[in-house]
Amino acid sequence: MDGFIVSARKYRPQHFNTVVGQSHITNTLKNAISNNQLAQAYLFCGPRGVGKTTCARIFAKTINCTNKLENGEACDKCESCTSFNTGASLNVYELDAASNNSVEDIRHLVDQVRFAPQLGEYKVYIIDEVHMLSTAAFNAFLKTLEEPPKHAKFILATTEKHKIIPTILSRCQVFNFNRIKTEDISEHLAFMAKNENVTFEPEALQIIAQKADGGLRDACSIFDQMVAFTGSHLTYKQIVENLHVLDYDYYFEIINQMINQGLPNIMVTFDEILKKGFDGHNFLIGLGEHIRNLLVSKDSYTTSLLEVSENLKKRYSEQATNCSLQFLLKALSIISKTDVNYKSAKNQRLLVEITLMQLCYLTAPLEAEKKNDITEPSTAEKYASSDKNTNQTIIQKINSLQEPEIKFATKPTFAFDKINIKSEFSLNEVKPKQNTVVNTTTTVNETNTLVNTEVKTQHVLDSIKNFADSKMAAGARQIGTTLNTAKISFVNNTITIQIQNESQKEQLQSIKQNFLDELRKSLQNNLIKLEIELLESSEPVKAYKPSDIFKELAEKNPALLELKKEFDLEIDY
Ligand SMILES: [Zn+2]
Repeated sequence: MDGFIVSARKYRPQHFNTVVGQSHITNTLKNAISNNQLAQAYLFCGPRGVGKTTCARIFAKTINCTNKLENGEACDKCESCTSFNTGASLNVYELDAASNNSVEDIRHLVDQVRFAPQLGEYKVYIIDEVHMLSTAAFNAFLKTLEEPPKHAKFILATTEKHKIIPTILSRCQVFNFNRIKTEDISEHLAFMAKNENVTFEPEALQIIAQKADGGLRDACSIFDQMVAFTGSHLTYKQIVENLHVLDYDYYFEIINQMINQGLPNIMVTFDEILKKGFDGHNFLIGLGEHIRNLLVSKDSYTTSLLEVSENLKKRYSEQATNCSLQFLLKALSIISKTDVNYKSAKNQRLLVEITLMQLCYLTAPLEAEKKNDITEPSTAEKYASSDKNTNQTIIQKINSLQEPEIKFATKPTFAFDKINIKSEFSLNEVKPKQNTVVNTTTTVNETNTLVNTEVKTQHVLDSIKNFADSKMAAGARQIGTTLNTAKISFVNNTITIQIQNESQKEQLQSIKQNFLDELRKSLQNNLIKLEIELLESSEPVKAYKPSDIFKELAEKNPALLELKKEFDLEIDY
């Protein structure tokens, strides 16, 4: 193992164009160098292991190269380049601020800055983790940073930009490094593997890249570790086991089972996952990601959002065709709810299990919806008559304990109801009933759904009487009485009902729409309007409300008011 160099070092890029996934930065730097527009100080921000220090070193080498190539890269041949490549150059000074953060450390650096380089044009000072500097150290550094000698260039690097004080920020050109895309990382790993004579399954590198979460250095060390563990052939299964990553096959299997309502299998699979030592919460989040990937695979336009191998993309889009959009969206919403509640749940395993049950049940009504015909058997009847009803009745029971959210299964039935009602209406409207009092002069336009026959006052009175009678029969005596005693007039298709007091008016207002519908139906005229008014008459208004009764009595006997005032009484209206 003597000659072993870790891959992160061995494959550290030596040129701007080999830096992985930061082309927006390397291009800008190359342009600045070739146009000779160098800033005094740069601040490189971004997550760890994405190439900040690497870029800083390449920058130092390139600006000192005496024979720069046309594409803006260093030549790698001149004296300066060779000294850089062998690590012997004195023109680059690296300070790790994490361990050297005192005022003395910075003073030492500032002292050095005064001396011009012996070879080459620039001295580059790289200060890593610059946010770790103490306030005093920052202040000691400010002056130099503001007015450095011409030969000095500073590159400050940090993972925590928000901790950099504004006076420093304003003196630097800031570059934000990206997390590196999984795709780019696995490509780089594949390049390394080929050089190292390591064979691999693309999915294996994919998992390493995902685990590294955007950091190329981490990806390289995981790669080294896996090669050491498993030899010169990396398989998906081995990597998944060694990295303790949950195999995505589980998710494909679980979704398949959900489509087929195989709840028992899902529960057993979940148990297996827990037994392997995986955390329920991580499993749930993974399931959410899987469903998100399915959703994204539904449209070829969004497939580019999938950060997975080609092979896996195909599997996703295959499974996505078996899942309805509604199922995926609903499932995501259920999972995110569980995600939020997970921490506070007492029985977390049960919570995940309930979620799985809900998800499994989601597909059942969707299936039903597809097959549903107009006879619309209730879901309960359907399941009772079904052969595989055992799961479903269990799920149903669980479902009945749940919030209304998953009750969307009932929506289709509701829609059918509406349609039926509608068709009933139009049928009645088109065919005039024989027993209704239709004037012989009436012209009926059968093709028009709005059959607006001529209406006579007597018809209106009859219809209102019928309505009042039906209300009486149905137990709504007051409405019946009100209508029977009301004053009714009919002018220009408008029925005006005049009643005696507010409470009667309120009563009628509350049923107005229904009343009007009935009238239009029975009069076969959709243009009929209904007005409800208070009767303005000289006759004393008959008191109905307790407040009215009190007023009436008080008018007759003013002593009542005195009494109320004397004893400070309140009237319970
Ligand atoms: Zn050179």
